[in-house]
Amino acid sequence: MQDILDQLGIRQSNGGTATGQKWIGSKGKVIASFSPVDGKKIAEVVGTDEAAYDQVIKKASEAFLEWRLWPSPKRGDVVRQFAEALRKYKEPLGKLVSYEMGKSLQEGLGEVQEMIDICDFAVGLSRQLHGLTMHSERPGHRMYEQWHPLGIVGIISAFNFPVAVWSWNTALAWVCGDVCVWKPSEKTPLCAIACQNIIADVFAANGVPEGVCGLVIGEREIGERLAADTRVPLVSATGSTRMGKAVGAAVGARLGRSLLELGGNNAIIISKDADLEMALVGCVFGAVGTAGQRCTSTRRLIIHEDVYDAFRDKLVNAYKQLRIGDPLDEANHVGPLIDKGAVAMYSAAIEKCKSEGGQFVVEGGVLEGKGYESGCYVKPCIAEVQPHYEIVCHETFAPILYLMKYKMLEEAIAIQNGVPQGLSSSIMTLNLREAETFLSSAGSDCGIANVNIGTSGAEIGGAFGGEKETGGGRESGSDAWRIYMRRQTNTINYSTKLPLAQGIKFDL
Ligand code: NAD
Repeated sequence: MQDILDQLGIRQSNGGTATGQKWIGSKGKVIASFSPVDGKKIAEVVGTDEAAYDQVIKKASEAFLEWRLWPSPKRGDVVRQFAEALRKYKEPLGKLVSYEMGKSLQEGLGEVQEMIDICDFAVGLSRQLHGLTMHSERPGHRMYEQWHPLGIVGIISAFNFPVAVWSWNTALAWVCGDVCVWKPSEKTPLCAIACQNIIADVFAANGVPEGVCGLVIGEREIGERLAADTRVPLVSATGSTRMGKAVGAAVGARLGRSLLELGGNNAIIISKDADLEMALVGCVFGAVGTAGQRCTSTRRLIIHEDVYDAFRDKLVNAYKQLRIGDPLDEANHVGPLIDKGAVAMYSAAIEKCKSEGGQFVVEGGVLEGKGYESGCYVKPCIAEVQPHYEIVCHETFAPILYLMKYKMLEEAIAIQNGVPQGLSSSIMTLNLREAETFLSSAGSDCGIANVNIGTSGAEIGGAFGGEKETGGGRESGSDAWRIYMRRQTNTINYSTKLPLAQGIKFDL
């Protein structure tokens, strides 16, 4: 791992505060990053104190005054070069993501690929930040709308996508003319430092004003500071619903704008008309991929009673084949949870499920012994439950899969929608009527609704996000860029008169 750290410019002790191309001193709390893979300390980071935070925001504010004047395609060209740099660093960065966060190497590399994809998307977007033109009701008048940059975008991110979520925000925000200040998860600070090093070189080579890509590292206090800071017009926060409620309230109290990407409780409906072999792959990957630590992980299966027993037996068999261990070893399917706190939450959820009447058909448990010394490896498990159980309506960030039975599609959709969260959902069916009903306004209430693919693994081309307690935000593709800009309506009078709208007369 040392050669990977060297390539990414990570030392044993690192500064955690950057104004852009420059690191600045700080006396904040020192955060040690431990790998959940083997429990070893990777390196330390000095957190951002109050004075350093203010310096980053001040520099970002100054940088915005210049950056907003760059033509958008020119900003896009810088993002294009960022994508090139990411291609160059894909392997070491993917490995660091895997080692610091614990996801499989394939998923670590996939996360960097997602960064590259969003950059490519943003480059094209830099020539398409379009508004509409309207016909004015007044003669000799022209009316149109245009989109301007907002200012500083504060980015608060979660541990489970330690690099991709930052780039989803930054790639769009930068072409839109905004500057960014990132507060990554305190559980994955080294991934953030690696990203900062990569982007700093690209920005320096292009004469980008210092301050366009700030970094502040610390615990929730730094996030709270960003949320309350009136100099930050948009706060994009990814994490738990608990965090999102706090950030949403703080940003709302100052009438700022927030983009919230919060917890999910994603279900797949398995119809009696499903291709069960295909469904099996989607369900198992969705439930155990990233050890159940994706916001889009599959947590609930709602299975038609005619195929319930057969599908449950297939799942039980598939779970027997799962190999749990070092995620950098490509022979393994399931890596560790992020830390022992997450393991405790997994164990508590299993106990709670049992106390509510859940029957485990694949038992869980914490793994011990050789290869599991970090204490973060757990067994993916499956329980038969009733949809109304409290634990089933709650997002446990771990590989616990709940099975439920249904008779009629309407009932399955009601179960699917009957939780507080609304991120991702799917139906497995070859029946066109069922598929279209699931996608109709009487169907899934989630931000993402799929047919014959699982709940996880979204592409960057679509807008990503969810409803209800998932927060309502949309990031990434489609027209998600609009949240990073302010809309301005312009009316120009080129006539010789000054007629008022609605025919109002006002003669002097
Ligand atoms: P978390 O809420 O504990 O922390 C996320 C970030 O918020 C961290 O940087 C943390 O320091 C910060 N934070 C915590 N409390 C805060 C507060 N009161 N004010 C400001 N900042 C605060 O989440 P986590 O454990 O890192 O990540 C897992 C959660 O993230 C899951 O619920 C998962 O579903 C969600 N998630 C959602 C998406 C999505 O796009 N919907 C994507 C990834 C993760």
